[in-house]
Amino acid sequence: MSFYENTLHHMQAAAKTMKLDHEVLERLSHPEKTMIVSLPVRMDDGKLQVFEGYRVQHSELRGPFKGGFRYFPDVDLDEIKALATEMTFKCAVTGIPYGGAKGGIKCHPKTMSAGELERLTRKYVQAIYQIVGPEHDIPAPDMYTNPQIMAWFMDEYSKLVNKYQPGVVTGKPIEVGGSVGRNEATAQGGVYVLQEYMALNNLNPEGMNVIVQGFGNAGQIMADLLHDMNFTLVGVSDSKGGLYNSKGMDPNAIAKTKKEKGSVTQSKEGEQVDGEAILEKPCDILVLAAMENQVTEENMKSIQAKVIVELANGPTSHEADNYLTKNGVVIIPDILANAGGVTVSYFEWVQNMQSYYWPLEEIQMKLKRIMSEAFQRIAKLQNDHHCSMREAAYISAFDRLEKAMTLRGDGANLRCKID
Ligand code: NAD
Repeated sequence: MSFYENTLHHMQAAAKTMKLDHEVLERLSHPEKTMIVSLPVRMDDGKLQVFEGYRVQHSELRGPFKGGFRYFPDVDLDEIKALATEMTFKCAVTGIPYGGAKGGIKCHPKTMSAGELERLTRKYVQAIYQIVGPEHDIPAPDMYTNPQIMAWFMDEYSKLVNKYQPGVVTGKPIEVGGSVGRNEATAQGGVYVLQEYMALNNLNPEGMNVIVQGFGNAGQIMADLLHDMNFTLVGVSDSKGGLYNSKGMDPNAIAKTKKEKGSVTQSKEGEQVDGEAILEKPCDILVLAAMENQVTEENMKSIQAKVIVELANGPTSHEADNYLTKNGVVIIPDILANAGGVTVSYFEWVQNMQSYYWPLEEIQMKLKRIMSEAFQRIAKLQNDHHCSMREAAYISAFDRLEKAMTLRGDGANLRCKID
């Protein structure tokens, strides 16, 4: 099953449980707009290389399109459609006034120089600038895109429309309109949700073992925050492999080694293990913070965690989701667990639109309130419908989306910015 089909399955399961009007499901099963662009870029060796880029705008029923863009060799339209769809549901779960979108470029960012990445980013903006904008579609970082890339994006867009437009993209460096707290927002939001779950179930971090798959922006900060809260970090992994130590490891030491030597596997904090095997090691909490389709029919029976926190988008297949949930594993779903990122992106955008910037305490307080309320609403729906947390999260989002659709009417989303 493809990532997009998997996402549709999650939607269909929730729609069935809540007896959703089939027209709402039908409408949200089709992205509103899809753009595929070819991006010719002059590489450092003087040769021209043409890259394929995507922007999928899934729904603007609840506000402007919003969603990150990624640079990765495996990027394709199916993946971007799935991620754009998830964004619509993620924004609806938190109640922030956005729709959903996603973008990406098929490329090998690790082998490209800063100059090549800058030229590629500027070409991407030139190709899609007519469909993005602070009141239309607001991109953000995702896998292998970072604040520097967002700064290039903002700069190129501002040049094309001939005015300074920091609100066209979020996740920017603080110096050019970024927000304090954005870098750690995805992990911090995940922590707030996990804390709510732990409080509801009278659980205590002491003595609880955690494995974190993916040691990038989301995973590394999550490992750090959980370590500070007295969870024991027993495993980590990145694209080169895994590291395990049942006695616990220091994420700061691992981060230092990754920075110096390129991978967590070079750290002496634990023993090297295969990247896939790390998911099957004993632990209480498994944080999936790498990429989609990691827990599937192939490895679901070997998962030992009691709780899975999906910081990555779509890391659990529909089959694995069903199997694990039936076997008592609690899955805190992506559209809730990683929604802290888009929530602080929303704060960044609000600050850009007002040209007035908030201190970190205000960002954290507002983020905590939104994440806690989203969790509480989902916990109640889970109880009412006797369903999984994922189904309850989709039900929570469908409820808001259905109301917006009823209020706006059938054709509300057909505005197009291109002349
Ligand atoms: P990133 O590029 O900063 O880090 C990705 C990490 O995953 C890297 O350490 C990489 O080595 C590792 N990785 C890649 N393939 C792997 C594999 N097969 N096994 C183990 N590790 C692997 O990306 P990120 O921003 O941290 O995003 C990670 C996930 O979180 C993605 O699914 C992304 O969509 C999701 N997410 C990110 C944000 C955000 O604000 N950054 C927000 C919401 C969701």
